[in-house]
Amino acid sequence: ARRQRMLRVEALRSGYGRIEAVKGVDLEVSSGEIVALIGANGAGKKTLLRAISGVQPVTAGRILFEGAPIEELAAHARVALGIVQVPEGRQVFAPLTVEDNLRLGAFRRGRAETETTLGEVYALFPVLAAKRHEPAGRLSGGQQQMLAVGRAMMARPRLLLLDEPSMGLAPLLVDQILEAVVRLRARGMTVLLVEQNASAALAIADRAYVLETGRIAHAGTGRALLDDPRVREAYLGI
Ligand code: ATP
Repeated sequence: ARRQRMLRVEALRSGYGRIEAVKGVDLEVSSGEIVALIGANGAGKKTLLRAISGVQPVTAGRILFEGAPIEELAAHARVALGIVQVPEGRQVFAPLTVEDNLRLGAFRRGRAETETTLGEVYALFPVLAAKRHEPAGRLSGGQQQMLAVGRAMMARPRLLLLDEPSMGLAPLLVDQILEAVVRLRARGMTVLLVEQNASAALAIADRAYVLETGRIAHAGTGRALLDDPRVREAYLGI
């Protein structure tokens, strides 16, 4: 089946006062894809992701979601359209139980829909089901990251924006988180993923973009970029 284009970013610029962090970026995400955004520290990955979710203003260019421009919409209006960002650093509510954290993510959803989605999140992350009555603060780093993803799922996103999900995690947990992202794709989710861990991200991505100082330097399938000598040398340390 031919994939529908979901997100299209055109000539996008964004920054902080006189610092331009994103300098004219074009990017596309189709329905059902995992697209990774990789690049060195300070390349502009986070700024680009935040411009798409609406927490960072754009100075030029367009962002089209299912063909309609959204760059002027407030962040909450983009959430209502189905664009949901999982923030870096997890930010779970430590004293609340796992389940209460999840319920907080059920943005403007009815009771029946909330219960259904909760079941889906527990099916995706059985460890969260097992610990549903424990305070979130008692979860391990990897489990807290799963909780953050699960909480975003509760809003029933169409496009999930993931900001460095493997941040601060041991290699085994990095694999677990990225495996969960692959399971999300199998359930029809569309994911735009910012990752510092380039080789792990490219291994699961359908396509990826490499950002260099605010511009796209390389783009292609995850496989092609993993095999590209320029990418291997600069980003994979090979
Ligand atoms: P990192 O993982 O290191 O954050 P990144 O690729 O996500 O890398 P950005 O965080 O988007 O890059 O940063 C792009 C540029 O914008 C960098 O030069 C950075 O110093 C600058 N920058 C980021 N956040 C701010 C801010 N709040 N105020 C001023 N400059 C910023």
